[in-house]
Amino acid sequence: MPESNTSSNTSHESARQPLTVLLAAPRGFCAGVDRAIQIVEQALSKWGAPVYVRHEIVHNANVVKRLEAMGAVFVEELADCPDDRPVVFSAHGVPKVVPAEAASRQMTYVDATCPLVSKVHAEAQRHARNGLHILLIGHEGHPEVVGTMGQLDPGSMTLIETVEDAEAFTPADTQPGLGMRLAYVTQTTLSVDDTADIVATLRRRFPQMAEPRKDDICYATTNRQEAVKAIAHEAQLVLVIGAANSSNSVRLKEVAERSGAREAYLIASAENIDWRWFDNVTTLGLTAGASAPETLVQGVIAACRARFTVSVREVVTAQENVVFRVPRVLENT
Ligand code: SF4
Repeated sequence: MPESNTSSNTSHESARQPLTVLLAAPRGFCAGVDRAIQIVEQALSKWGAPVYVRHEIVHNANVVKRLEAMGAVFVEELADCPDDRPVVFSAHGVPKVVPAEAASRQMTYVDATCPLVSKVHAEAQRHARNGLHILLIGHEGHPEVVGTMGQLDPGSMTLIETVEDAEAFTPADTQPGLGMRLAYVTQTTLSVDDTADIVATLRRRFPQMAEPRKDDICYATTNRQEAVKAIAHEAQLVLVIGAANSSNSVRLKEVAERSGAREAYLIASAENIDWRWFDNVTTLGLTAGASAPETLVQGVIAACRARFTVSVREVVTAQENVVFRVPRVLENT
């Protein structure tokens, strides 16, 4: 894999303990997060403040705070938005009843659902039209799962969180032959390895189950997990920058732990570092979840430079060039 030196130490720091920072690439913002943030920024510029946003646009307090300062108002439910101000739906997707309610209230709304989440919604709808019962592999309560389950009538989908759930799932007696009429879809931000185990279990039990044409775990999640694997086995400590409610960030920490890091921590920013973690650490692995801005990564490197003689080595496992356009209503704003 290609590697590049991105910095070196200065002479006055030479008495400090050396620290190699292995910087995973790709890391941080994905195309869906980029687009969602642009949507809020462009909505503010088109319609002025306030623009309401239903749920955190992406799971990062830093991003939310910056948009709030620009005039975005974050709420959890559409009921908290006035009829006469625009509202943006978050990148995680929303149940169908949400845009339907906005339309019935004649609100202006923009859907920032990531196109890769919308693809999963479309798959689920296609399977349901074909009379299949859907197994959704994901985490209960995550907004993406709530949004995906909300694309179909109650009872059309069963949530599978673990291999044990996959073993225990029994097609309902009331729907004879359902075992032959199953399909699965997944949340986009799962652990690639855990999901493979769940899918293998389901395939063994239901060999005729319909599968996604292309993996539902998105390119950004997959690439970030591969990148952290590539640094974790060399690093004694891995720091993942991301929010505790960011699914893909939490998965990165788990992947780092399983891939050889002695310790791995999820931190919101440099302020959350406990410097005792660095005892006997000569190599730090550093990455960021898909909703964490690069400024936070640079903040951690700067904090390390204040204490160690740092050399940064970026370990690149994939190049990304995915870009999603904003909805037409906001183009040219
Ligand atoms: Fe889209 Fe994947 Fe980013 Fe989620 S993590 S917003 S699915 S690209």
